[in-house]
Amino acid sequence: MAYFLGIDVGTSGTKTLLMDVRGKVLAAANGEHTVSTPHPAWSEQDPQQWWSATVKAVKAVIAKAGIDGRQIAGVGLSGQMHGLVLLGGDDKPLRPAIIWNDQRTAGEAAEIEKKAGGKAALIKMVGNVAMTSFTLTKLLWVRKHEPKVYERVRHMLLPKDYVRLRLTGEYAGDVSDMSGTLMLDQRKRDWSDQCLSLFGIDRSILPPVYESHEVTGKVTAEVARQLGLAVGTPVVGGAGDQPAGAVGNGIVTEGLVSATLGTSGVVFTHSKKYVTDPAGRVQTFCSAVAGEYCMFGCILAAGGSLQWFRNALGQHEVEQAAKAKIDPYELLTREAAKAPVGCEGLFFLPYLTGERTPYADPYARGCWIGMTARTSRRELVRSVMEGATFAMNDALTIFGQRGVRPRQVRLSGGGARSAFWRQLQADIYGTTCGTVRTEEGPAYGVAILAAVGAGAYKSVPEACSAIVKVTRQIKPDAKAKSAYQKFYKQYTRLYPALKGEFAAMRDWA
Ligand code: ADP
Repeated sequence: MAYFLGIDVGTSGTKTLLMDVRGKVLAAANGEHTVSTPHPAWSEQDPQQWWSATVKAVKAVIAKAGIDGRQIAGVGLSGQMHGLVLLGGDDKPLRPAIIWNDQRTAGEAAEIEKKAGGKAALIKMVGNVAMTSFTLTKLLWVRKHEPKVYERVRHMLLPKDYVRLRLTGEYAGDVSDMSGTLMLDQRKRDWSDQCLSLFGIDRSILPPVYESHEVTGKVTAEVARQLGLAVGTPVVGGAGDQPAGAVGNGIVTEGLVSATLGTSGVVFTHSKKYVTDPAGRVQTFCSAVAGEYCMFGCILAAGGSLQWFRNALGQHEVEQAAKAKIDPYELLTREAAKAPVGCEGLFFLPYLTGERTPYADPYARGCWIGMTARTSRRELVRSVMEGATFAMNDALTIFGQRGVRPRQVRLSGGGARSAFWRQLQADIYGTTCGTVRTEEGPAYGVAILAAVGAGAYKSVPEACSAIVKVTRQIKPDAKAKSAYQKFYKQYTRLYPALKGEFAAMRDWA
């Protein structure tokens, strides 16, 4: 029997997962790492820790599964996207990696947009607008603030690609992860000469870019001995954590969308064609399917809004739930289910921490609007869930405007644990929803990519249709769907009406 290993270099830890050729998960393991914050809003990690965590988690997953590591026929890599790893001539990190959530580069992001000739020109060049998370902003920061370090840079890699270097001795990246650098020409699926020359980036520091299922190198003899793998085990390109998670969810053909309703929400879709949003409200990346693309939007406080309600106003449910030994969210959703569809015109805007999709407005605020003397707790809690789901629906609406229409939305994240919230999503999205087994996340997606790279399947869509099974289908309720269409229309008018007021509140917190 051949097995496939997925390695996901996350922020708090590196997760490994072993699956067989039919996609059955044998075991998963974790190795932890730490984040350092040398200044407020900075976020850095030591790449050596990723490697130590990988060694620990690979050994642990093989032991847990009780297999011979030499039976592993392919390795896939996934990881936190955007992080900047800079290596000198000896392949040692020149400084800690500046990771995705580091916020020091607002100045560089603005400078990039200006130099590119504005938002639209930048989108035309690299598919996306400049955000502080994107790698180019970090590279320019190091050039400006640490010129001595920059002079010594010989290689730039993303986090998972540093682990690849340690595994195989090869410098390589994949198209999906590299789409998050702001330096990739997504149409060519290679570095953008225009971007590199505009910002004066030396191409020789950038690795070759592969499709996600392609073999990028083989496990070296020394590492094979250390980890108990076979010498020469192929390591495929892999994918950034979002596109890799999408493979695990089967979002690899047009018409499929995933809605992950966790603390934040991510709405993700697949597109055969290269489609960008001219306003930059959603991101476009190369997908893990060769030659194809994906788009996604991020809602900052999706499940986080309900969490806020639980913490701020749900003391009653928290106490009752503790007595009954159940989750307070269950009691809150029971309460919400008693309120009518649309809460008689009570709306909640879930912008508790500003908003990314579709408004990219750090000053947006959360609020209720439309209370009457009849409004009770049940409307308050239901409107929070409706508001968060309307916000997720904004991303779906943008996909539709770009010609990518959903046939099925696959639900995951904490919100999908609740039957009530699953049905609410089907009613608001107005589309059949489904769930698949997804607890494994990105590591599962890249184990599937490894199976394709090793030749067990002909393509990523073929592998996903064999492996990823829909476990539940939720159809929209016709009456609720039609009511929500009207409520959603009004919801979309509220932020534009309040935008100026939110901006005026800027100095009050
Ligand atoms: P994270 O995104 O932090 O990894 P989860 O994916 O578990 O976390 O999502 C957490 C969110 O999911 C919570 O804030 C809450 O809004 C929602 N949630 C979790 N469990 C339930 C439940 N049983 N019913 C309704 N919502 C839930």
